[in-house]
Amino acid sequence: MDKETWSRRRFIGQAGIGVATAMTAGALESLAGVTLTYPNDGKLALLGGKAIREGKSWPAWPHVDDNVISKIVETTKSGKWSRIQSAQGTVATFEKAFSGLIGSDFCVATGSGTQALSTCVEALNIGPGDEVITSPYTDFGTISAILTSRALPVLVDLDSESFQLDPDEVEKHITPNTKAIMPVHIMGLPANMERIMAIAKKHGLLVIEDACQAPFSRYQGKPVGVIGDLGCFSFQASKAIACGEGGAVVGNNQAMMEECFTVQNRGASRAGKNERIGPKYRMNEFEGAILMGQLDEAKSRFETRDANAKYLSEKLMAIPGLTPQKQYEGTESGSYYNYAMKYDSEEFGGVDRAQFLKAIQAEGVPFTSYIREGLHRAPWVDTILNQQVYKRFYTEQRLRSYRESMNLPKCDEITDRTLVAFWGSAVLLGGREDMDDIVNAVTKVYENRSSLKSV
Ligand SMILES: *Cc1c(COP(=O)(O)O)cnc(C)c1O
Repeated sequence: MDKETWSRRRFIGQAGIGVATAMTAGALESLAGVTLTYPNDGKLALLGGKAIREGKSWPAWPHVDDNVISKIVETTKSGKWSRIQSAQGTVATFEKAFSGLIGSDFCVATGSGTQALSTCVEALNIGPGDEVITSPYTDFGTISAILTSRALPVLVDLDSESFQLDPDEVEKHITPNTKAIMPVHIMGLPANMERIMAIAKKHGLLVIEDACQAPFSRYQGKPVGVIGDLGCFSFQASKAIACGEGGAVVGNNQAMMEECFTVQNRGASRAGKNERIGPKYRMNEFEGAILMGQLDEAKSRFETRDANAKYLSEKLMAIPGLTPQKQYEGTESGSYYNYAMKYDSEEFGGVDRAQFLKAIQAEGVPFTSYIREGLHRAPWVDTILNQQVYKRFYTEQRLRSYRESMNLPKCDEITDRTLVAFWGSAVLLGGREDMDDIVNAVTKVYENRSSLKSV
């Protein structure tokens, strides 16, 4: 929004204040063009005022309904509890249904998103001595999947506005031992796949998409997860499609996908031959049952979350100091595992992020800072550098330069100062009034920012 529109909106907002105060719970046009319904006595809930969300709750996730329950009961009664007991069981059925919904030719279910990623690394024969470039701003499962095969996870810095892997940084960190790039579609929004795929092609690298947060997101005419060689999803309890713990690999290359099946089947092929190294990562029939009980509504829930997020972004654009996560050209839709924004303390009159979060939370809006620290700052780095297997397969010089490369200032800025987010899986299932409450809370905190400075 340009400055002029901004001042006009602000003027309308202020002009309404007298009336609103007189009515106690009056309605006035907010900065963002949403009707404010809070008692505008200028008092933040944090300072003893009435909270915007007083007495209201957010939608629950995961959603439990009769459909899910009856599928579980059916599986229990069937006595078929492992996928190997039936080719028409819930897991096999889910794999077909999920690839149909995602738009991939093949799908292999696993016991978690981490297992899905790990299956891909192993199936692509990435191992000791190899390097995989990925993001420091992710679930530890992304890194774990690389470490499990004793490969080296090379973490590179981020784009400060999108919180995604910066393609320039990816290219800078390619070595002769780099085998793959593992972009993470963080928050469920697509990473810069156009650039990442071009870099991969130029250097002959494989691409494993960590789409754990991004089922159904679309980018440049394609579903996320089938842009690279293989894509992974998570069905852990907090995710957009949830069965407690679960995951899936998708892809269009049949040979590669058969290798994934063999790996997750503890190295045994579909034909029953014990062929290669592989852990047992099979999804069980109960997990498949919950997923089948949820799949009918998965797409419409995705659409609800995406539409709510688009509505919010439009409104929040009007508020200085809070910028919705940047999307790359060609982003058509997002899963919004989290709805994330960049917070600018200066625009909020010097109120730091922690104080802003307290004020927003007091209004009943569950903003958090999400990931506490980038994974380059976690103890696993020193653990692996001291392990024989890493000392044996990587040169001393490489391990030294690796340690030194774990300095990622943009990621630090994001985790320590600028990122604010809320959990989209649940909150974005709300109605328009719920979304308006979020905008109202942000507007209220913005308008009262000077009173926050002194607390
Ligand atoms: C959840 C998640 C994982 C790991 O999935 P699990 O099912 O929890 O093992 C990996 N990467 C990202 C980006 C995630 O959000």
